[in-house]
Amino acid sequence: MSVPTLAADRSVCPPLPVLGRDVRVPLVTGGEVTYAALDYAASAPALQRVWDDVAAYAPYYGSVHRGAGYLSQLSTDLFENSRAEVAAFLGCRPDDQVVFTRSTTDSLNLLAAALPAGCRVFVFETEHHAALLPWERRADVTVTYLDAPRSPREAVETLERALADREPYGPALVCVTAASNVTGELWPVRELAAAAHAHGARIVVDAAQLAPHHPVDVAELDADWIAFSGHKLYAPFGAGVLAGRPDWLQGAAPYLAGGGATRQVARGADGGVRVDWHDTVARHEAGSPNVIGAYAIASACKALTEAGFETLVERERRLIEAVRAGLAEVPEVRVLSLFGDDAPRVGVLAFTVDGWNSSHFAAALSAEYGIGVRDGLFCAHPLVRLLLGGAPDAPGECGAPDGGNLNAIRVSFGAGTPDEHVARFVSAVRELVRDGA
Ligand code: PLP
Repeated sequence: MSVPTLAADRSVCPPLPVLGRDVRVPLVTGGEVTYAALDYAASAPALQRVWDDVAAYAPYYGSVHRGAGYLSQLSTDLFENSRAEVAAFLGCRPDDQVVFTRSTTDSLNLLAAALPAGCRVFVFETEHHAALLPWERRADVTVTYLDAPRSPREAVETLERALADREPYGPALVCVTAASNVTGELWPVRELAAAAHAHGARIVVDAAQLAPHHPVDVAELDADWIAFSGHKLYAPFGAGVLAGRPDWLQGAAPYLAGGGATRQVARGADGGVRVDWHDTVARHEAGSPNVIGAYAIASACKALTEAGFETLVERERRLIEAVRAGLAEVPEVRVLSLFGDDAPRVGVLAFTVDGWNSSHFAAALSAEYGIGVRDGLFCAHPLVRLLLGGAPDAPGECGAPDGGNLNAIRVSFGAGTPDEHVARFVSAVRELVRDGA
């Protein structure tokens, strides 16, 4: 197997150290190779720095907001400082609240639970299921699904039309991704926020795929809320974030009922219990919080900021170009795109290969080259079906063994990806296509 390298560019920073750089995996052809993790969009490896910070803190672990002992106080400080660190990383406004959740999915479900009754929600059909599905679970909320736009401008126009059609009163929310987990394409969040606000609606931004790749500035984007996951931001310790406006969150019933979310609980005269819930961020953080998860996210935020997003973005741009140029040389490869070839994107790219079943292709990359990618419909079924040439509602079978392409292959990378992984991937695609299924 030949492993070409990308042309060295001394002006570009090396990859950030991550765990798993030396993991060896067996090949079906015999021998073994260093694993090339090219599935960052699903879960990115932990930054070495995050791991070191977590390991240094672990012996001092103690309960948060629940203990008089020294380690409890220290852990509480660490947890609250992590909140402040994340707020700074996101460029939050002074009144914004940062709620620690389990993940982006959890964050968006929390917001869905906090919507005012009668809220209208507008969401593009292209969203990840985490952003597409939570709203319908509320019986007192109406959801409008917007057709997939074929350009950023069309996205704004589609939203404007839909918002103009609604009754001009009552609460409304737009939910939009900042960077697609399928195509990697960037969405015009600032313009969509302006359109939402012009029509009296609010906007929540799914930044699961943006935050690991780009600086995020909630105030500058004028997003009302933003959600992301630690495990995609090099901090895989089970925490996520929902940050933004406090009013809807504080006006809603607590997401979970339990200790920590309450100021007072007492038996009522009627024999039941009377609960006085917190009206701070604690309202939605019932139960013992995941202090290690929160601290890991804060550590990753600090590490990315210190490394300098400009250099990271520039480095990733080179990797994206290398992948695109390499795949462009293989006529059988079809890259999936909603907005077209020139759309700005992060290091996430889905494609199919003529004559190959996508699942078999992904399996061959793993078994023969030690490359980990993802195959499937990436929890964005309507979008992938549309991009594969069908209607978003077309029935499809993932991994159908017919040599057809009812699913796709996704390669994704980030700040920890060495040039060699990308070069190995490009050369593996070439070899597999040349040698046939
Ligand atoms: N939104 C996008 C764009 C994603 O890519 C993902 C995960 O792949 C999610 C939301 C859900 O993230 P999690 O699985 O961490 O809840």
